[in-house]
Parts: sequence; structure tokens; C-alpha cells
Amino acid sequence: MITALLDAIHAPSWRVRASCRGVDGQDFFPPSGGERRRERRQRELRAKAVCAGCPVRSECLDAALANDERYGVWGGLTDGERAVLILAAS
Ligand code: SF4
Repeated sequence: MITALLDAIHAPSWRVRASCRGVDGQDFFPPSGGERRRERRQRELRAKAVCAGCPVRSECLDAALANDERYGVWGGLTDGERAVLILAAS
């Protein structure tokens, strides 16, 4: 409860409008036990479907790139897609 309250206070304002807010985050990050390629692809597609309608997608992607988020789907892009974006920009 306290953690959730502190998160709400310190979270960037765009996060309160995120489509993934309140959604089970398991589709956005790989499971600790690993996953097969096909499972990963399906999980990422489910996460990206949530991102597709998100009103703060660009803010989310900017934050992920600025914070060097290495894992998960952020701003509608997988970690691999973000890596390609970073390489292309360098
Ligand atoms: S773009 Fe995706 S990960 Fe980012 S806030 Fe929106 S729904 Fe969540």
C-alpha cells in the first residue's frame, strides 16, 4: 500500500494515463524461468496490442530509451526493436 502510494506520487504524470495501468504485467516482461521463441512472440504481441491504443506511447518509449530499459515491451517496442532503434540513431 505504501509502495503503491509512493509510486503514484513519484510517477511521471503520463503514467496515470497508461493503457497498461492496472493490467497484469506478465505480458510485458519475460518470465523468470524463460520461454520458448514462439511463447515470447505471442506474449510480446499481446503486450503490443495493449500499447497500440495507449495515449502515452511516445512518452513511454522516450522514457524507456532515456532510462536504457533493457527488457520488456515499452512504448510498443520490444527490447530487440529498441536496440535496433538505438543502433540506427547512433
Ligand atoms: S506504451 Fe505500452 S508499456 Fe507504455 S505505457 Fe502505454 S501500454 Fe504501457
